[in-house]
Amino acid sequence: MKLKDLKIGKSGKVIAVGGEGALRQHFLDMGVIPGAELTVTKFAPMGDPMELRIHGYELTLRIADAAKIEVEPVVLKEEAAPAPASKKRPKKPSHPGLGETGKFHPKGTGTPLPEDQMLTFALVGNQNSGKTTLFNQLTGSKQHVGNFPGVTVDRKDGAIRGNKRTLITDLPGIYSMSPYSGEELVSRNHVLKEKPTAIINIVDVTNIERNLYLTMQLLEMDVPTVIALNMMDELIGNGGSVDINTMEEMLGVPVVPISATKNEGVDELAAHAVHIAEYGEKPLKQDFCSRDDNGGAVHQCLHAVMHLIEDHAVRAELPLRFAASKVVEGDKLIIEQLELDANEKDALEHIVSQMEKERGLDRSAAMADMRFSYIKKVCDRCVVKPRESKEHIRSRRIDRVLTGRFTALPVFILIMGLVFFLTFNVIGAALQNLLAEGIDALSGVVDRAMTAGNVNPVLHGLVIDGIFQGVGSVLSFLPIIVTLFFFLSLLEDSGYIARVAFFMDKLLRKLGLSGRSIVPMLIGFGCTVPAVMSTRTLPSERDRKMTILLTPFMSCSAKVPIYSFFVAAFFPGKGGLIMTGLYLFSILLGIVFALFAKKTVFKGEAVPFVMELPNYRLPSPRNVLQLLWEKAKDFLQRAFTVILIATIVVWFLSSFDLHLNLVEDSHSSILAAIAGLIAPLFSPLGLGDWRICTSLISGFAAKESVVSVMEVLFAGEGLRSAMTTLGAAAMLVFSLLYTPCIASIAAIRREMSRKWALGVVAWQCAIAWVAALLVRTVLMLFGVR
Ligand code: GDP
Ligand code: MG
Repeated sequence: MKLKDLKIGKSGKVIAVGGEGALRQHFLDMGVIPGAELTVTKFAPMGDPMELRIHGYELTLRIADAAKIEVEPVVLKEEAAPAPASKKRPKKPSHPGLGETGKFHPKGTGTPLPEDQMLTFALVGNQNSGKTTLFNQLTGSKQHVGNFPGVTVDRKDGAIRGNKRTLITDLPGIYSMSPYSGEELVSRNHVLKEKPTAIINIVDVTNIERNLYLTMQLLEMDVPTVIALNMMDELIGNGGSVDINTMEEMLGVPVVPISATKNEGVDELAAHAVHIAEYGEKPLKQDFCSRDDNGGAVHQCLHAVMHLIEDHAVRAELPLRFAASKVVEGDKLIIEQLELDANEKDALEHIVSQMEKERGLDRSAAMADMRFSYIKKVCDRCVVKPRESKEHIRSRRIDRVLTGRFTALPVFILIMGLVFFLTFNVIGAALQNLLAEGIDALSGVVDRAMTAGNVNPVLHGLVIDGIFQGVGSVLSFLPIIVTLFFFLSLLEDSGYIARVAFFMDKLLRKLGLSGRSIVPMLIGFGCTVPAVMSTRTLPSERDRKMTILLTPFMSCSAKVPIYSFFVAAFFPGKGGLIMTGLYLFSILLGIVFALFAKKTVFKGEAVPFVMELPNYRLPSPRNVLQLLWEKAKDFLQRAFTVILIATIVVWFLSSFDLHLNLVEDSHSSILAAIAGLIAPLFSPLGLGDWRICTSLISGFAAKESVVSVMEVLFAGEGLRSAMTTLGAAAMLVFSLLYTPCIASIAAIRREMSRKWALGVVAWQCAIAWVAALLVRTVLMLFGVR
């Protein structure tokens, strides 16, 4: 029967994995191989995708893909009956110290690298295995940690604390050395091309089978490697344990149990890493196929291929065993690099097809099966599985509501509603008032001091009407923005957003996207720049581009000041309603835009949805605080650079006329003359006033400056003299949709191209203009004036 027909709670054994190409390879790499046993755990509320448990972790996939996987129903024996909870504190596993037992590095022998040579380390591991947490511990740096597969998008470098000679690179998470998404290729190429002195392979011990699959392939790289067994706290806390000594022996590399969050074992890991790098201690074992595995077909094939390609691998500077594995799997990139001639390619195909015949599995499946059988041997001998972890039981309970059939969507809407309500109406708003009062008071003090001190009136004007009015008004939005980021990071770190991706997949597919696109979009409500960057985790170019083009429709937090400003001036008391309306309106337009794009430029199918759902975790306060501090710093930096400069320039241009005389009335200023030129463009929207045009233009530098510029230009004069309620509505809609700020455009250019970036500017402005006109017309018909 097909996997998709298996009922919830029922188990099956994989018989055959259909499909083809990279996706099929990805399934195999994730452990869906013939012979593997799995249990269906749930279906998403809309019936698609589904989630199953395999090799001790949860994997999601779409029904359409599940239809290609043949299973045979089986009854699994109860997973290892829960061990009686013993009162004794579980023991930490013992393991050899540095240089002990003489197995890997007899103390003090061998020739170390010269003192002045840099030791470079690649931090490689599955997504969500704790790489960034470990990186932060090792280097003392402050990178963002998340509980969503694929948070690290940019590689980061840092030195191990107290050892200037070292350089660690935190790479994007990968599941295997067969690249499936762009960032997987980044990680693989880093190891292959930049040739780090050593690899630190981080393994999530609570998910050890799947994590070791990558290890198997890393060991083939023939680079000194140390394994960091992470999350030992969780394993031990739930009654599991690992025989480290045996594991070291079976894998041929040092293994160090650690807990990255608790900073346990990290120093020891660093010592081991430096040691193997210095002494160039390569893995003792790479050969995990065995003569007596299923008649030895895979073993014979691999070794034959190794002999066949040996000279080519040396020339292409590829590790031999790695190249052979990839060639047997049919990896086109590697086969190309090897430059085999026609006869050799023929021989290769013959060897492989003979193996396929003898083994009764196709090439990719046979290789995956070989690796997983060795992993099984390792785990059977060294790992005492924990009982179902507290974290997992908790996650399942939470999931019953958060991804429940009837509860998922309402709860999602409720949560998002609550986040915006708390941000804009309660916490953020209260803090904002406090800060605004503070700034006002300070401005008052400075004003009085300057008057008393008889300061030059021009300077006085600049400080009070320029800087305090402009920058101060923007500064007061700091609390709102920080609060919004606080909630977004809470949702992300806890693991909830991964669930949102899971149950929104079916809806997003109607737009031609996959559930994974939900992450960049939600981040987009905070800031477009990281949102655009986070699209790198998407495994297809088409999805990536389309998602990037949609992020400008997610109203970023820098626009909040604009909305609040106009709501306060024109629609007092209706803030909640208008904000919600604006957000929904732009999401709606985004949907229309996506549908249009899907029908025209981005024809084709969304990528498959293969993802693992991590356990829910309580985000660590340190992490959250760190993130908030970074966002606040970012914002302050902008306030005192871009926005300050924009404010001063605007103040200057509006205070002097073309002959550089101070003007009485800003209507005769330089700015009025310049802005007057484009004002006709905005007249149909009721925004023809030159001061409004100026503020909108300055919004290109940073959205917050729309407000600061308004404050400067309308100082003393009522905004109402220049704008009707109808105009304010048009202004809100226009600001909501028009071109993202210059930083976002730069990010889009980096991720796509100059042409696309310019395109975004052009059509967002056009869409904004048309939408504003439309809203204005409709409101006019309803009698608003
Ligand atoms: P990355 O995706 O590999 O960079 O993983 P992160 O460093 O972002 O961590 C993923 C999640 O695992 C975060 O929620 C961490 O708090 C959590 N985590 C990392 N290390 C440990 C650990 O040693 N023990 C436990 N219990 N959780 C950990
Ligand atoms: Mg990371």
